[in-house]
Amino acid sequence: MRSSTGSRDLVVVGAGIVGASVAYHAARAGAAVTLVDAGRPGGGVTADSFAWIGASGVLDGPAAALRATATAEYHRLGTELPGLPVTWSGALSWNRQRSAPAAGPGQTIVDAATVASIEPAVRQPPEWAIWAPDDGAVDSVGVVERLVAGARAHGTRVRLDTAVTALRRDAAGRIAGADTTAGPLPGTTVVLAAGVATAALAAPLGVRVQVEPSPCPLFRLSAPAGLVRTLVSTEDFDLRQVAADRLIAAADSPEQTLAAVRSTFRGAESVELLSTRLGARPMPVDGEPIIGPIAEVPGLYVSVMHAAVTLAAAVGRLVARELVDGTVEPTLSGCRPDRF
Ligand SMILES: Cc1cc2nc3c(=O)[nH]c(=O)nc-3n(C[C@H](O)[C@H](O)[C@H](O)COP(=O)(O)OP(=O)(O)OC[C@H]3O[C@@H](n4cnc5c(N)ncnc54)[C@H](O)[C@@H]3O)c2cc1C
Repeated sequence: MRSSTGSRDLVVVGAGIVGASVAYHAARAGAAVTLVDAGRPGGGVTADSFAWIGASGVLDGPAAALRATATAEYHRLGTELPGLPVTWSGALSWNRQRSAPAAGPGQTIVDAATVASIEPAVRQPPEWAIWAPDDGAVDSVGVVERLVAGARAHGTRVRLDTAVTALRRDAAGRIAGADTTAGPLPGTTVVLAAGVATAALAAPLGVRVQVEPSPCPLFRLSAPAGLVRTLVSTEDFDLRQVAADRLIAAADSPEQTLAAVRSTFRGAESVELLSTRLGARPMPVDGEPIIGPIAEVPGLYVSVMHAAVTLAAAVGRLVARELVDGTVEPTLSGCRPDRF
């Protein structure tokens, strides 16, 4: 469906995984894009992400159709941007329930012998696990850097270490660009992809973006080579091996995570905690992505969500189509800001 004419002159605020993807796709579609970030590419919460492309198992909800495309969109992006750091390992999940749940889309239920073949170091394979063979993970900062390089190759101007201090409007109330610590940036459309800072940037225009910071720790652990082969998700942790000698885990407590890793895997006795980071996830109050134009402020577009690593490849392409071609993407219909 086509709406009003698209914009070809964009300022994208935020070079996290969302803004970098929007900038890349919009520039590739022919827009004149300026990408601005207060820090470095991927230096926001994207740097502290577990970074699971978790598109399997979602049956319903406003963003189900969007999420269902996430894996295919990363495969597409990987062909456009050779060297995109994505690993397709599959994901294995289990918990202490006695009986297995029904498998969702992209999932199968596997038995203990199959768990042992997929993850040979698991000491006591559970009687059942959910196996999502098409799930994967990214080096999230590496993906952002690749997207920014791709955006630059399509003519995007990238302004780093430059904070947006206010959004500019013309006499008619339309967006006219952004004020920054390095001076004004003109643009007929501003995309707010500033993660947890999005609400504060929109508020002076009388626009309430209902997103709040949701803290979540990420632990980095030492590990012997080849300990964990896939993404493993249990009641104790989400865990994956990111290098021959490194694991990352999204979990609650460092002590419990360390104890759980050591007891779950044979050969993990020497695993040690290397660092803890507390990331603030931009969490919409209803948990669903907030993506779309703001009707009261012509030229203002918002793109903020949780599980943005999973969704970034799909969201970037769809948002760019809406902004550049003036289409209305039905896959985003459950994500509109005016639902609140
Ligand atoms: C421990 C943990 C585990 C996670 N695991 C997963 C997972 O497995 N899968 C998944 O999909 N998601 C996961 N997430 C969530 C995911 O990391 C986020 O959804 C995603 O990184 C958000 O990206 P973003 O681009 O919206 O935000 P950010 O990465 O925060 O980017 C926003 C950017 O805006 C910039 N900015 C802010 N204010 C301004 C300003 N005034 N001017 C200019 N620039 C500004 C910031 O500098 C920043 O670079 C996890 C998060 C955490 C913390």
